[in-house]
Amino acid sequence: MIKKYYLLSPGPTPVPENVLAAAAEPIIHHRTSEFSEIFMEVVEGLKYVFGTKEDVFVLTSSGSGAMETAVINTLSAGDKTISICGGKFGERWGKICGAYGVDVKEISLEWGELYTKEQLAEELKANPETKVVFATLSETSSGTVYDIQGYGEVVAQTDAILIVDGISGLGATPCPMDDWKVDVFVSGSQKSFMIPPGLAYIAFSQKAWNLVEQSNLPKFYFNAQAYKKNLGKKTTPYTPAVSLVIQQKKALDIIKSEGLEKLFEHHRILGDATRAGIKALGMELLSKNPGNILTAVKVPTGIDGVQLVKTMQGKYMAYIAGGQDPYKGKIFRIAHLGYMGGFDIITALSALEMTLSELSYDFESGSSLKAAEEILKENWE
Ligand SMILES: *Cc1c(COP(=O)(O)O)cnc(C)c1O
Repeated sequence: MIKKYYLLSPGPTPVPENVLAAAAEPIIHHRTSEFSEIFMEVVEGLKYVFGTKEDVFVLTSSGSGAMETAVINTLSAGDKTISICGGKFGERWGKICGAYGVDVKEISLEWGELYTKEQLAEELKANPETKVVFATLSETSSGTVYDIQGYGEVVAQTDAILIVDGISGLGATPCPMDDWKVDVFVSGSQKSFMIPPGLAYIAFSQKAWNLVEQSNLPKFYFNAQAYKKNLGKKTTPYTPAVSLVIQQKKALDIIKSEGLEKLFEHHRILGDATRAGIKALGMELLSKNPGNILTAVKVPTGIDGVQLVKTMQGKYMAYIAGGQDPYKGKIFRIAHLGYMGGFDIITALSALEMTLSELSYDFESGSSLKAAEEILKENWE
């Protein structure tokens, strides 16, 4: 058969056809009013998705560049921080802080376990000198969504700020930055923003900006003050990824015309359909609070999880994601994020069933498709 590639991973995600085509347009110069007009429309669109009145800065980097920007612009050497860490991406906050000599008290959770706002309040009471609390909206390594609204309430009552990784969650699950009192919010282009990898986004609250003005960690390319100054001139300090900005304008047009509420509901339906399919196969989820961004599934005992993912990706070209680090071979992850539709879930489940029968897993053939189709039918508009 022709090898057709089905991208079903939690980043990068599929890109709509008209957005793909926009990358083929001739490059315009970035120091022109023509570019500035597009750029400012993108910034306005990002503010809508972030749920903020603050500036959103556009960085040419992957999402981790925005995470580093958050750290180096708000902190100073020797500062104390707390990181709520439930997986591979939560760990990244600690690694970045470590590279800059910032002290991190890591709250290591089992992958998929929750952490309550009451627990955070206790932790902050015991550590009153904390400058920053790091959290993750959607932990992509475990498929878990955390209580950012609750953390925002708790942190707002202290002198600390709340920095949130929204790289996979933002745009797919609610987290209005200003209402939920997130102080620094970061995201990346290749998840729910429906464009290729290469841009990262970051916004600071006024409370966070006070720390920006005091921060003494070394920085140059990611100096937030330079991005602020240049945004005032409707541009970026350094050459932006012009084509990606143009693509982001087209994708934001889609996002705005659907509206965030409808997109959250769309992701909810895809999440429900996936979870129903998985349940019909007698399998369990890893997360105690599974998000609608991706579904992390425990590999049943007796099945070789590495082989499962290898067959899905290699033979069927259904590019789901495997488990990372301690969960390699123990879970697999099906994304339902960004530009994905109901039949992408059917594709994923069908390839999963074909793979499972090859691995001699005992299940009723077609049961996951039937269960997912029920959810899709009930909700299709
Ligand atoms: C994808 C992802 C990242 C990493 O982003 P890069 O673009 O690979 O740097 C960080 N955090 C979360 C939650 C992610 O899903």
